[in-house]
Amino acid sequence: MNEEIRQLTELQVIDLEIAKLDAEINAEQAALAKREKAFNERQASIEELKEKVESAEAQRKELEAELADELSRIKERQSKMMQVQTNREYQSLLKEIEDGKKSIKDKEEEVVRIMEASEANTKIMAEQEALIADEKKALAEESAKVQKHAAEIEGKKGKIAVKRDDMAKDINTSALRKYDMLRTRRNGKAVVGVVNGICQGCFMSIPPQHFNDIQKGDRILNCPTCQRILFYQPESKAE
Ligand SMILES: [Zn+2]
Repeated sequence: MNEEIRQLTELQVIDLEIAKLDAEINAEQAALAKREKAFNERQASIEELKEKVESAEAQRKELEAELADELSRIKERQSKMMQVQTNREYQSLLKEIEDGKKSIKDKEEEVVRIMEASEANTKIMAEQEALIADEKKALAEESAKVQKHAAEIEGKKGKIAVKRDDMAKDINTSALRKYDMLRTRRNGKAVVGVVNGICQGCFMSIPPQHFNDIQKGDRILNCPTCQRILFYQPESKAE
């Protein structure tokens, strides 16, 4: 194999190792973020319920004040009844009292409705609060675990990166630049084998003459389709 290509394949092993470590920690952090998002949403829905219960309580107090007013108005009308002179006056007071009683009944029903709804919401709130209390604890533990693991992985990566820098120093600058560019564009795999005339990166056929040149291995050649750096890989060694 061409010496530069050999160096690059060795470098690629290290780069893939680093990428794998990154993927590992990214996956853990993404899972944690997803859990945190669900937790925050649940907390927000508890806040919403709390506001609902509070505004219902305010509404109930308002209604009860109105009820008290209505009651005293009725009492006032009832005492006036004793002093009425005309039937018209009497009828009019009677109607006011009846209207007042009807209004009281409606308001009392509304108060009951509000209290029932608040009771139901308070129950849901308590359930949700119990759930998030456990989840909060579990999340804190998970977060610490992920952080610890991330630090471990960073340490591992640091050691590997030193090794990589050492290896990269020995590689021809322009070959290294091409490799790095391909690596970012081709999802980490910049150097691939050719098995039976097929590029193992994009699985397209390599034209026969090009394949012959790759087999000779005297210079860096790329796949005409995916541009990856190619090396000849005998069939038996293929994965
Ligand atoms: Zn290809």
